[in-house]
Amino acid sequence: MSTSITHAHATTPLTKIILLALVWLPIFGVISAVFLLWNQWVNWVDLTLLLVMYAICGFGITLGFHRMLTHKAFQAQPWLKTLLLISGSMAMQGPALHWAATHTQHHANSDEEGDPHSPLKSLWHAHVGWILNDFKPDIQKYAGAMLKDPIIVFVHNTFWLWVFAGLALPALIGAGAAQLMGHSAWFGALTGLIWGGFVRLFFNQHITWAVNSICHTFGSRQFETTDESRNNFLFGILAMGEGWHNNHHAFPRSARHGMSWKQPDPSAWAIWLFEKVGLVKDVVLISRKRIEARLRSEPDPTPDPVILPIPAEQRD
Ligand SMILES: [Zn+2]
Ligand SMILES: [Zn+2]
Repeated sequence: MSTSITHAHATTPLTKIILLALVWLPIFGVISAVFLLWNQWVNWVDLTLLLVMYAICGFGITLGFHRMLTHKAFQAQPWLKTLLLISGSMAMQGPALHWAATHTQHHANSDEEGDPHSPLKSLWHAHVGWILNDFKPDIQKYAGAMLKDPIIVFVHNTFWLWVFAGLALPALIGAGAAQLMGHSAWFGALTGLIWGGFVRLFFNQHITWAVNSICHTFGSRQFETTDESRNNFLFGILAMGEGWHNNHHAFPRSARHGMSWKQPDPSAWAIWLFEKVGLVKDVVLISRKRIEARLRSEPDPTPDPVILPIPAEQRD
């Protein structure tokens, strides 16, 4: 099955161009947006597209790629699982299996040799330098348990289709809204693409990458972990709960990263809501006993495995 996996990170001139585009296009998008703002060429449709697309793709990363796919913090109905993985792909942070394997490798070697993006090397390296240096994840080793899941493999292999859809959707909605308001549909498509597409991508990417850089450098540590992970209030909010990163390293499989009302975690609220309406099950919650033991710096009585084992029925 692994032979059907597209290796988007093979070092060829084309992939080098793709990697550069992946990082720089959203930045050029932000520059064009500043120009549009300066000329007051922005309306509530563009800003709504930015916010709604940011939330959809952001939850795709936090709920889809991170908590569901990488850490198995809950199980979703197949159609919801597919939608979450598609939404995560639209955030253009790499195909699903690359993301999961890279992130598992981060947990397995956090802030030590082998961590793909530790800020102990440099803050720039942790943020985006590791991507520009063409890091290649070992899917077999770190995401082997996912290779026989047809939904995951399908969304992984169709990654660029979803990136394109994530740009085409706000352009089409922008064009339709402009037409309805009696303005130029082409101009509506352009501003929709810039705000709901490129500016949104900029925030989706840099806020997630800040969890790797800022949340391993600035913030408080509630739990003693073997890495430099921090709880950071600003990214707790902006990254929809992912900034409670020290909690997350202490209990990687927990569906909740925020551990009290002082640590708002919109992704955990979404999981709670999905569970209430029967769309997700097997939600992993950490007992008070385990949390208190870790707060007293005692070893976790039942630590989570970092690399998830391949289920017996999927082994060859
Ligand atoms: Zn981390
Ligand atoms: Zn994680």
